Amino acid sequence: MAQGHNYIGGEWVAGARTVRNINPSDTRDVIGEFALADTAQARAAVDAAAAAFPAWSLSGPQQRFEVLDKAGSEILARAPELGDLLAREEGKTLPEAVGEVVRAGQIFKFFAGEALRQRGDLLASVRPGIGVEVTREALGVVSLITPWNFPIAIPAWKIAPALAFGNCVVFKPAELVPGSAWALADILSRSGLPAGAFNLVMGSGAEIGPALVDDPRVAGLSFTGSVATGRRLAAACAARGAKFQLEMGGKNPLIVLDDADLAVAVQCTVLGSFYSTGQRCTASSRLIVTEGIHDRFVQAVVERLKQLKVDDARRPGTDIGPVVDERQLAVDMDYIRIAKAEGATLAFGGEHRATNDQGQPGHYLTPALFTETDNTMRISREEVFGPVANVIRARDYDDALALANDTPFGLSSGLCTTSLKHATHFKRHAQAGMVMVNAPTAGVDYHVPFGGRKGSSAGPREQGSYAAEFYTTVKTAYTAA
Ligand code: NAD
Repeated sequence: MAQGHNYIGGEWVAGARTVRNINPSDTRDVIGEFALADTAQARAAVDAAAAAFPAWSLSGPQQRFEVLDKAGSEILARAPELGDLLAREEGKTLPEAVGEVVRAGQIFKFFAGEALRQRGDLLASVRPGIGVEVTREALGVVSLITPWNFPIAIPAWKIAPALAFGNCVVFKPAELVPGSAWALADILSRSGLPAGAFNLVMGSGAEIGPALVDDPRVAGLSFTGSVATGRRLAAACAARGAKFQLEMGGKNPLIVLDDADLAVAVQCTVLGSFYSTGQRCTASSRLIVTEGIHDRFVQAVVERLKQLKVDDARRPGTDIGPVVDERQLAVDMDYIRIAKAEGATLAFGGEHRATNDQGQPGHYLTPALFTETDNTMRISREEVFGPVANVIRARDYDDALALANDTPFGLSSGLCTTSLKHATHFKRHAQAGMVMVNAPTAGVDYHVPFGGRKGSSAGPREQGSYAAEFYTTVKTAYTAA
């Protein structure tokens, strides 16, 4: 193992350059120096994956189970330590970070089981004397490109199914969070995988992306990140007939009806909109609230926000950690200015502080709640990706549902109600890949499909047994007796 290096063909390889990994809770704290791969190293990673594919794709289910189970066990055993690293480099609170690491371990365990459960269909042919078998085979070399906001869970939910189904992986994490990615690669390097089946190249997407996306030996791209990048990479894949899977942005609505349990609605709002500093693709950024509960709801949310502690992600008692970096902070502040300029009322927060109470320099931002907004404002239409949410008034359930669906995105959609009728109608008519009733729009299980519709996603779903759709290709075999 070589701290901070790329992992290519079973070897630790120093980067062409390095980058410093900075703690957003205290920008004086340098977590480490990490490799930045160049194009030649990215190509070498594809070479290694292509060379390893024939053998790994034909490996048996027991071998794949053992690799994934071993990696999952180590992740779970080291959850406190890995969670501390994750909180330190990304800025979500320690409990959230440890929870994310545990989830990554559970994902590896789940896909260890999926390696054993690979199944097909056996059918009679419509022609006499012929049998038909439908089986799944590995896709090939897959490039996995991930964002910074879930530094270990998103890599886990791509790498584990890729390997479970016999693919060879080139993994490129986001530039801001190399620490968690490197720790995961270190664990996989000791898991019993043959050299080249898993490769890590850290670096700039713009620089090494083409080597990972345009290479004819890369059969598939699984990407999570922004809409702009995702669409560009999908076009490159489509142009050469490669498979792609995209998970991108959201502008997720949470509807609160007059008949909602107010405490439940406030809890869903605070957890869904502002925890993890609002830096979740599933965050509820549009709060669509009917007239009869509107004022009570706003008042109760503001009261809760006043009690939240915005502080160092690793300090006990912190509710909301810092914004991940200066660039994202500038985006958040820009949207706060835009919302004010569009006539929204800032009911709470939105204040940037350059230090916490201990004087640590960091990217601290109090959660911002806007009221008196409508669904045409930019704050309602564009993803902010920060602790910023706005309240939109609705006349009744039908009006609220129409507003919720009026968005270019379709990842997660929530409803707080005590009405079975509205809950049932909503589950069928919300235009989103994931629908939540009396639960936050963010926060999902690891064993069921994850993904969205409209501008939020493209290609097959991730996670659960549905992951096989992307990571395998189907073969139909006919045998005449
Ligand atoms: P981003 O698009 O800037 O970067 C994502 C990844 O793509 C990074 O690893 C980056 O280096 C890489 N990349 C950038 N340009 C590239 C190129 N030309 N070729 C290859 N790779 C390239 O996104 P981000 O800022 O890291 O993440 C925030 C975004 O991710 C938000 O829009 C958020 O909604 C989205 N997100 C979506 C989900 C989901 O499941 N739907 C989950 C988490 C985050």
